[in-house]
Amino acid sequence: MRIVLLGPPGSGKGTQAALLHERLDLAHISTGALLRDAVDQQTELGQQAQRYMDAGNLVPDDLMLGLIEERLGQPDVANGFILDGYPRNLAQAEALDAVLERIGQPVDVAISVTVNEQEIVDRLSKRAIEEGRSDDTEEVIRNRLRVYAEQTAPVAGHYAARGQLREIDGMGAIDDVQQRLLDALQAG
Ligand code: ADP
Repeated sequence: MRIVLLGPPGSGKGTQAALLHERLDLAHISTGALLRDAVDQQTELGQQAQRYMDAGNLVPDDLMLGLIEERLGQPDVANGFILDGYPRNLAQAEALDAVLERIGQPVDVAISVTVNEQEIVDRLSKRAIEEGRSDDTEEVIRNRLRVYAEQTAPVAGHYAARGQLREIDGMGAIDDVQQRLLDALQAG
């Protein structure tokens, strides 16, 4: 199964993707994690991406496309995948369609995880304290939420137009959300 997980920062999609990876043995492809690795290793991509990430802006599409194409070329992808953090705008959604068509692995379903705004702010503030991520300061969080609303939210429509979008409630316990996700994958 090939899944795109959509949801705002703090929606818990990374946590849910990791659990789904364990359960279904699908490749978990988190572009945020791939980028943070590149930054830690100070690769050329990492050096270019860092200032965008630190400001809470999207890393340019051409850099992202190279990253995602390379990841999708790895052998574990043949078993199916969960995309977590990509696509993040309509241009990325179209570029992804082209890559997946070329490798014969089109998306089966997109799941949008919804969470109310106050919960998002609470979760991200908590994560800032626990993980110390450099993009979890209040000002940057606000910008990430704005970027999400303006650029990423429309991506749901891309999949809805093809009848591939399902929504789940991301509020409540992690295990409960996981169960909703599994139910949504089974439905239809
Ligand atoms: P969150 O979903 O909590 O914002 P991520 O770990 O998914 O966190 O992403 C962190 C940062 O990495 C983003 O704010 C952005 O700068 C960059 N990033 C991740 N995925 C993409 C993408 N598909 N396109 C552009 N930038 C991205």
